[in-house]
Amino acid sequence: MVLKGVPASPGIAIGKVYILEKEDFCILEYRIKKEEVDKEIKRFKEAVEESKKQILRIKERIREKIGEKEASIFQSHLNILEDPLLIDETIKRIKKEKVNAETALREVYKDFLERFKSIQTEFIEERFRDIEDVAQRILHNLLKRPMMSLSHLEESIIVVARNLSPSDTASMDKEKVLGFATDIGGRTSHAAIMARALEIPAVVGLRNVTEKVRPGSTIIVDGDRGRVIVNPTFSQIKNYQRKRKEFLAYREKLEELKSLPAQTIDGREIELAANIAGPEEVDVAIRNGAEGVGLYRTEYLYMNRSSLPSEEEQFEAYRKVAEKVAPNSVIIRTLDIGGDKFLSPLPVPREINPFMGWRGIRLSLELVGIFKTQLRAILRAAQYGKVKIMFPLVSSLEEVKKANRILQEVKKELEKEGVSFCDSIEVGIMVEVPSAAIIADVLAKEVDFFSLGTNDLIQYTLAIDRINEKVAHLYQPLHPTILRLIDNVVKAAHRENIWVGACGEMASDPLGMPVLLGLGVDELSVAPTSILEVKKVIRNISWEETQKIARHLLKLSTSQQTKRYVEVKIGRRIRKILKGE
Ligand code: PEP
Ligand code: MG
Repeated sequence: MVLKGVPASPGIAIGKVYILEKEDFCILEYRIKKEEVDKEIKRFKEAVEESKKQILRIKERIREKIGEKEASIFQSHLNILEDPLLIDETIKRIKKEKVNAETALREVYKDFLERFKSIQTEFIEERFRDIEDVAQRILHNLLKRPMMSLSHLEESIIVVARNLSPSDTASMDKEKVLGFATDIGGRTSHAAIMARALEIPAVVGLRNVTEKVRPGSTIIVDGDRGRVIVNPTFSQIKNYQRKRKEFLAYREKLEELKSLPAQTIDGREIELAANIAGPEEVDVAIRNGAEGVGLYRTEYLYMNRSSLPSEEEQFEAYRKVAEKVAPNSVIIRTLDIGGDKFLSPLPVPREINPFMGWRGIRLSLELVGIFKTQLRAILRAAQYGKVKIMFPLVSSLEEVKKANRILQEVKKELEKEGVSFCDSIEVGIMVEVPSAAIIADVLAKEVDFFSLGTNDLIQYTLAIDRINEKVAHLYQPLHPTILRLIDNVVKAAHRENIWVGACGEMASDPLGMPVLLGLGVDELSVAPTSILEVKKVIRNISWEETQKIARHLLKLSTSQQTKRYVEVKIGRRIRKILKGE
């Protein structure tokens, strides 16, 4: 059976299915005799002890393999195991109601949920998820069943899930996950972005892959074509094993380009930088020949935890990146929580339409304390390399002015306190909301650079939810409106002598990227694993040719026409280049 979805991250994975879902297993409810109470409490305590040991082991492994921050999630799990609300209450209930430990624990947990049901903040929800996780672990240990999670996998598997949240991907054991396949999501959902960052083949938006596979059965994830093959035949496996080999050989061949410039045939040099989500990705970026970091998505520092990152912790992370990337520059984007990046210790309310809601700079301008802490950390870290600041989701001039004013305040505060920092920091904005793209001439006077966030720009301009697979086919980077907006932004920027980059996924789209070049974009920032491929395309086209294409495209009226035109002019050639032919 072949399922079609959205290709999210290239490569081929062949392996056993691991379905990630909340387990809903049967619990036997029974009463116990008075003389059995002590034995039952002992059984419960043993399960709690066993859970503690398991969490400690996981925590240690995550700390060693991934980092302190990710390990801290499991510290909060350990704290829950000490929490009288869950543990003592369960013991009390076993004693009082003379029921088995499973029943008592479940009742306590249910009461707990009931009590906090009315408070719907992300923080409380995250606490719930943590408590639920811990309660599930104790139940598994009571029943002597292994627990499912992506952070402590025993064997190599392919993850199949309805959706993967950024926190799932962040805590995932990267060595054991061969690939993933999900029911929902589009190319620019954050799970897809994380898959590319981690170099894991992935297909998203498969609609019902979770219903079509069984745990332990074999599947093939074809991340290039967006296909998943369920229960493949022997010859299909052979065929894909060969493709996998070819893919890996192709990747290896691309390595030859590592130290060559990203220069078109006719000599235009493009700055080719990487998008990262944390210090741990810098090495992959550098290994792939990135000339700096064009987008550091700092929100990942705020996720998967129950408290906000301190100024010191942020400073350390930013400093590490600045030092590693120097002498090249790193653009640190301030917190862009919201949209599909939910999990955070921030009290973000539940919204019907989160992508249109309280996210990006809007949130920072209201939670000024949090914003200032981040700005302080960035300004201090800027002494250790070449750091630039970028504000996300700007939609008006007032927002830029207000953010810049707060930045000035922070500088003054640091000065007054005698804390050393870098004063001459460049400040830019993401152009990812149509209103910002339209008033680019006004905004260009206030900032040092623009970076086109095409993921959101396309979503907001075309009214296409970027994570909804039902409308994924309407997500058109080459839509005439998008091209005209980008043209407007580039011209406005160049008139004010500031540079324009592109850090959305369009920058690594084989058909979209040459058009960005033709429209005059100066810098491209792409997933670390796409750098060499993008460089290969750049080195095989001429700027003049892309400019001609762009000029013609601006006269067309539908995305069908624009796509066809690009396809005819360079599409086939680019595909050949990418295939290594
Ligand atoms: C974008 O919107 O294009 C972008 C790069 O930002 P993010 O994907 O993090 O929203
Ligand atoms: Mg964005």
